[in-house]
Amino acid sequence: MNTSENKYDTIIVGGGIAGLTSAAYLTRAGLKVLLIEKNRECGGLVNSFMRDGFHFDAGVRALEDAGIILPMLKDLGIELEFVKSPVSLGIENEIIHLKNLNSLNEYKELLTKFYPASAAEIDRVLISIRKIMKHMDVLYGIENPVFKDLKHDREFIFKRLLPWLPRFIFTVGKINNMNMPVEEYLETFVKDTSLRDIISQHFFKNTPVFFAMSYFSLYLDYFYPKGGVGKLSEAMKNKILECGGEIKTETKIIEVMADKCLLRDENNATYQYTSLIWAADLKTLYKITGTEGITPKIKTLFEDSKIKMLKNRGGDSVFSMFLEVDEPLESFRKIANGHFFYTPSRIGLGQTHRGELNYLLANFEKIEKNQILAWLDKFTGLNTYEISIPGLKDPELVPQGKTGIIISFLAEYDLFNLIQKAGWLNEFISELESRILRVLSDSVYPMLKDKIIAKFSFSPLSIENRVGSSEGAITGWSFQKHMPVINKIQYSDRSVMTPIPSIYQAGQWAYSPAGVPMSVLTGKLAADKAIKQTRKFKNN
Ligand SMILES: Cc1cc2nc3c(=O)[nH]c(=O)nc-3n(C[C@H](O)[C@H](O)[C@H](O)COP(=O)(O)OP(=O)(O)OC[C@H]3O[C@@H](n4cnc5c(N)ncnc54)[C@H](O)[C@@H]3O)c2cc1C
Repeated sequence: MNTSENKYDTIIVGGGIAGLTSAAYLTRAGLKVLLIEKNRECGGLVNSFMRDGFHFDAGVRALEDAGIILPMLKDLGIELEFVKSPVSLGIENEIIHLKNLNSLNEYKELLTKFYPASAAEIDRVLISIRKIMKHMDVLYGIENPVFKDLKHDREFIFKRLLPWLPRFIFTVGKINNMNMPVEEYLETFVKDTSLRDIISQHFFKNTPVFFAMSYFSLYLDYFYPKGGVGKLSEAMKNKILECGGEIKTETKIIEVMADKCLLRDENNATYQYTSLIWAADLKTLYKITGTEGITPKIKTLFEDSKIKMLKNRGGDSVFSMFLEVDEPLESFRKIANGHFFYTPSRIGLGQTHRGELNYLLANFEKIEKNQILAWLDKFTGLNTYEISIPGLKDPELVPQGKTGIIISFLAEYDLFNLIQKAGWLNEFISELESRILRVLSDSVYPMLKDKIIAKFSFSPLSIENRVGSSEGAITGWSFQKHMPVINKIQYSDRSVMTPIPSIYQAGQWAYSPAGVPMSVLTGKLAADKAIKQTRKFKNN
């Protein structure tokens, strides 16, 4: 393959939402751009698909703006139709539907109904949520300046940005003091372990308290692109093509030759770049980058970063079950909104997802299948489920009179991995599916039992295979004391730098905590740096 044909100002590896954002901005700036994606479709974890006439979202179920997504779309001139994606919360047979800030009182009543002895502690939880919601209002209170034209938009600068800055600085100080894991934080004043679990068991392990407690704000903010979440990725992809960018799908990069600014794919084709944006799994970047020929100083910095990256793990993964149901949307609408967090038991997971799971993992070789299935009985009965019904957000997404449902929960990658190695993954998944169906049919959705037309699931291993994400992680690094990347919002600009000057990083692995908004933000920040670098290179 002749590399001169494959020479670009910037190459972006990874066509998830971060890579798509980078590519859209780079093509708009007039650079020669190539986006390389290993799958047939772009979108990564912002992706939708159709099966038997049912529409499903494969990754994120709805979007939060966070002052990032809508300003980015406006800035790029992308028009998409959105609908609200209202959230319901349920425990056993009590369900509340969140509408606005007053819904916090309903949440308080819901918790007090199940844990009356903890009323005073519930009050404190609510005070904490309210306080953090105020911080979030400041943090996301204006369109993120990164997406504004700060050279020309004087009105934004003087009327919005400057008055906001002192409040932002004050809030950042407060937030940085709230990095304690949410479980530990609740332990300081909530005695009832079940209550603690019910509040926190659907968060990632060790989620910083400010992030966990901000979820109530996020619940009120969720919106949904008409036609499915994947419409966002589709629109970004069209924008890139419209601006003259190139997209190469079904192409997996397996080597980065840093000194030559060259990439190699699985078919041995090579691609030359001035700058590279790596918008995919970061451990992979560090594993496949050859540093021969680069200066000793940069090589040392790179090797140091590599050690940190490879030592850390991806965060929690997710298990998702997709159902095609022969029952009209109306039956489900009567029960809960199309985005629903449901816990079938007030008892809480307790040690089931901590000590007991750790014991199973540590002693896997000695454990009988039946012990794992007995654990699964408990786990599925006590867990919290995120249930999404796309048809309740956009009725055109299902065949007439039928309903598509996505049921998911945080899942331990290592368990699926060990079971796969032991050779009974399919059996385990089918046992898991039947238990989830039993639990939900016996509680919130009695009509499910006899109405399933088809079902299929994606495990943490499917996520790892599909998007190449270490440990099947869906929002980058697990929350640990020593993060291998930037985790303070005031330094987010630096999050896209790698030790090698011509290589930038973007997406869920570049900053922590991550998710769609931060993937978009880092995608834009990396593009800005690559644009500057390319212009400098061309002027020399
Ligand atoms: C079920 C679920 C629920 C979620 N809920 C939320 C939520 O409520 N809020 C929120 O903010 N976020 C949520 N997320 C997370 C969010 O979707 C992701 O964090 C975000 O989409 C990550 O985007 P990304 O572009 O950084 O990475 P990815 O989407 O992982 O994209 C990386 C891309 O790189 C490609 N790639 C990898 N390796 C290579 C290679 N060697 N060569 C070429 N291409 C490669 C992959 O195929 C992939 O397309 C959820 C995710 C899931 C799965």
